[in-house]
Amino acid sequence: MAKRRKNKTGKGIGIVIGLLALIAALYFGKDAIIGAFTDKPAAPVSGGEVQFHFIDVGQGDAALIRTEAGDILIDAGTNSSEDELKAYLNSLGVTDIEYAIFTHPHEDHIGGADMVLNTYNVKRVILPNATATSKTFERMMDAIEAEKCEVIEAKPDEIFTVGELTCTILAPISKSYSETNNYSVVIRAEYGETSVLFTGDAEVDSEEEMLARYRLKGMLDCDLLKSGHHGSNTSSSQEFLNAVTPTFAVISVGEGNTYDHPKQETLAKYEAMGMTIYRTDKEGSIVFTTTGGEPVKK
Ligand SMILES: [Zn+2]
Repeated sequence: MAKRRKNKTGKGIGIVIGLLALIAALYFGKDAIIGAFTDKPAAPVSGGEVQFHFIDVGQGDAALIRTEAGDILIDAGTNSSEDELKAYLNSLGVTDIEYAIFTHPHEDHIGGADMVLNTYNVKRVILPNATATSKTFERMMDAIEAEKCEVIEAKPDEIFTVGELTCTILAPISKSYSETNNYSVVIRAEYGETSVLFTGDAEVDSEEEMLARYRLKGMLDCDLLKSGHHGSNTSSSQEFLNAVTPTFAVISVGEGNTYDHPKQETLAKYEAMGMTIYRTDKEGSIVFTTTGGEPVKK
């Protein structure tokens, strides 16, 4: 895993600050060193809390999971929402990203990927085995190379952890699909009793594969569903929802979008199942927190 050069410089500055603080402490007494060691950033959250942020990036997806041990980013919104995403991450004090998952190479998911890679210390990138010919995709791949990030290809059943949070990759399962959305990396995040399903834009074909592989293992059942494909009717099949049975559905969607997302049909299914629906076009960014029990909306 390659660290970025500017962090090495940061470490050097930290050592210098530390030495100056030590000299100050010797001169002024022990109290002078309080607050002088600024090299190591504070833990993203404390008290055993885990936060799930669904960031308002208009018609696109961007989510952040914060744990005491580090941050995970799932998608990076559109090219045009790059500044908003950066402002949001900066407002939280994000510096390092343990894993950045770019679910599939559509602009509404990887538009801000180059900004994220160039701005933050992204340690590992998880990608599906899918390419695109767009400038956006090229910029992301160039930034991954320039930053020397470790790249991990998403494979079903693979698990990664950040502290006590466990993420299982559920999809993509097949090697190739005719629809790019079905390459979406689907992540099941678990912390204590809380489970959240991040589905990217996975459509019915991918849902059927996940049902066949995971339904009987109970691995689709979760508390919170990030609605597939912005609440489109190409995702959220009734069979899939019956296996997921979430309490909450979060739809990441832009106001007045030209796709007519979310579809009425999808909303009707969610409502019939008694889910509480939250939409980024209506509420802006949406945050859930948990300390290991049920997730609670902030
Ligand atoms: Zn999308």
